[in-house]
Amino acid sequence: MAKPRIYTTTALVLKYRNYGESDRFITLLSRELGQFQSFAKGIRRSTSKLTGHLELFYKVRISLAVGKNTDVVTEVQILKTLNKINNSLNTVSCALNITELALNVSTEGPGNEIIYDLLDQTLNRLNTTDESNADKLLAYYQLNLLFISGLSPEFNECVECGDKLTQQDHLYNAASGGIICPNCAPKQIGSLVNLSVNAIKVLRFIENTDIESIEQFSIPENVISQINDVLNMHIDHHTDKQIRSRSFFKGVK
Ligand SMILES: [Zn+2]
Repeated sequence: MAKPRIYTTTALVLKYRNYGESDRFITLLSRELGQFQSFAKGIRRSTSKLTGHLELFYKVRISLAVGKNTDVVTEVQILKTLNKINNSLNTVSCALNITELALNVSTEGPGNEIIYDLLDQTLNRLNTTDESNADKLLAYYQLNLLFISGLSPEFNECVECGDKLTQQDHLYNAASGGIICPNCAPKQIGSLVNLSVNAIKVLRFIENTDIESIEQFSIPENVISQINDVLNMHIDHHTDKQIRSRSFFKGVK
């Protein structure tokens, strides 16, 4: 069925790019329509009715008119601003990382419902929770997104021989997609990263828990940072695009 000339959807703002003197291209993710780009004419003029309505992480009800190349924003109603995310540099950095991942894995059209729900849920929690939980929520999001994409890392058995892993520190290999047991480690080529027994336990916990429980669960800072490093490596290796916001914020922390 052809799109009507003007249509409305609920969407999250993932990215924008200024254009000309006062316009902006805005990329959004809708539960029904998937990822789409829109053109917000005059949005950077202080007199525009769109000004301040399509900021990063906002959840909006948006109406668009079908355009020649890009559909044009006609009306926006803000459903949620998520402004609290911007109060902490670390929380913003996690939120940018999360939206960038959503940009990379979501597609145009239907089939993005789970990606949308996960993003919506995680951004909401980032906006509500204490900033000390941001890194845990990032790990939760990354693990779940990998699961949705069928790219989960293996933390329960050796990816080479399939043996169940004993409770100890192990080595992770991005190229193999998971943990390598001590017997198989010497035969590995490529870089191996140490994953402590605590980090492995926490990864298994996050894999099997809901978003509320993870905020209650206390995880030492060095463990969560080790986990996020391994998940970043896994994502870099197994998805096509590198996450730009991550490298941008690396120097800030
Ligand atoms: Zn093995």
